[in-house]
Amino acid sequence: MIPIAEARLFVLSGCAPLPPRRVSLEDSAWHVLAQTVLASEDIPRFANSAMDGYAVRWADTKASPVRLRVVGTVMAGQSPVTAVGEGEAVRIMTGAPMPPGADAVCMVENTRTESDGSVVVIETPVEDGMFVRRAGGDIASGEEVFAPGALLTPPHLGVLASLGVESVAVHPRPRVGVISTGDELSDGPDPLPPGKIRDANRPSLLAQLRTDRFEVGDLGVAKDDETALSRLLEDASSEFDAVVASGGVSVGDRDVVRFVLEKLGGESMRWMQVAVRPAKPFAFGVLGPSATPVFGLPGNPVSALVSYELFVRPALRSMAGHKSLDRPRFKAIVDVDCTRRPDGKVHLIRVLACTASDGSIHVDPSRGQESHMLHALAEANALAILPDGNGVRAGASLDVLLLDAERLQLPDDPGPW
Ligand code: AMP
Ligand code: MG
Repeated sequence: MIPIAEARLFVLSGCAPLPPRRVSLEDSAWHVLAQTVLASEDIPRFANSAMDGYAVRWADTKASPVRLRVVGTVMAGQSPVTAVGEGEAVRIMTGAPMPPGADAVCMVENTRTESDGSVVVIETPVEDGMFVRRAGGDIASGEEVFAPGALLTPPHLGVLASLGVESVAVHPRPRVGVISTGDELSDGPDPLPPGKIRDANRPSLLAQLRTDRFEVGDLGVAKDDETALSRLLEDASSEFDAVVASGGVSVGDRDVVRFVLEKLGGESMRWMQVAVRPAKPFAFGVLGPSATPVFGLPGNPVSALVSYELFVRPALRSMAGHKSLDRPRFKAIVDVDCTRRPDGKVHLIRVLACTASDGSIHVDPSRGQESHMLHALAEANALAILPDGNGVRAGASLDVLLLDAERLQLPDDPGPW
């Protein structure tokens, strides 16, 4: 058996970031930026008001309450025509450009008008620059806005749009072909013939890949037949950026994925027994002229998804240009005894993580923990890392990988906002 870290290093060595491609701003969300973005202009573009109120000279308001002559109005989208002189004010709306001469804004709530609005009484003094959004106060022209490696989130798109950027160079997200293998697998809703089972891995892996924002291709179910599987894997590796197969990588006579990959991949391919439970057997290598990464995951449905978490997801994230490859990891308190025997392996327990009202995180193992018991994984939102040994007592602290933040349970009373 080899440590998880060694298997990961081997996998990551074959999964470099995909070459950058230019995409429209609209298509760029959740890609990793592959260029530097410099600001071509100031944001805000011009000094403007942060409030609805009156543009004034702050020095005029020192002795407030003071009465100022209202000499004009400026709305958002207009360019100011009237300047503000001594003893004067211009009515201004949020986002409207500051009139020449004005250096502060008094919010409308601190004013009242007289003489049909031709005079405004400023009730309290304003400070220099108050409620004025400075030109370049958010982003200055020429500034480096984003560096290569930045993940483009919705606010990033807002920044780029504000700057008039229409396209950016990003690392493409890998397109991943998914295959299930096994003579026992039957497709479709029909009653199962004796000895057959339904394919759980392809639907779950395809959904997980999409959830993790990779592109997918469904390559169907393959029989445990070396010739057919060879052709399928070769074709898939020329069509996709990466290929994920499940089943057939263990030590059985019909574990043909393993043999086929060893034949096709030669030196580049490695079949591994990883010191982890579940997800011990695993194969990885690169195939074909474009050195397409091919992952051979174990067939047991829990093992397949755990193997995906340990090896496939970080590798695909690396191909997509991400710097951070792993799920968030934190310490959590186990609320029950977690016993185990020493076996040289790290055990990954499917757990439900909850936050307590004191801010601590607690985990409880969910249902059955065997590698064919997919129901427990469906009810879990995290994997707790139980190191080799005899396990831990209730109350102990374990490292936990959060698989699904959306389902992190909150306390019954999460407290006021
Ligand atoms: P294997 O890795 O091919 O030896 O398969 C290990 C176990 O997982 C066997 O019980 C298989 O029947 C089961 N299995 C393999 N592939 C799938 C699949 N796609 N869906 C559900 N179970 C599977
Ligand atoms: Mg099999």
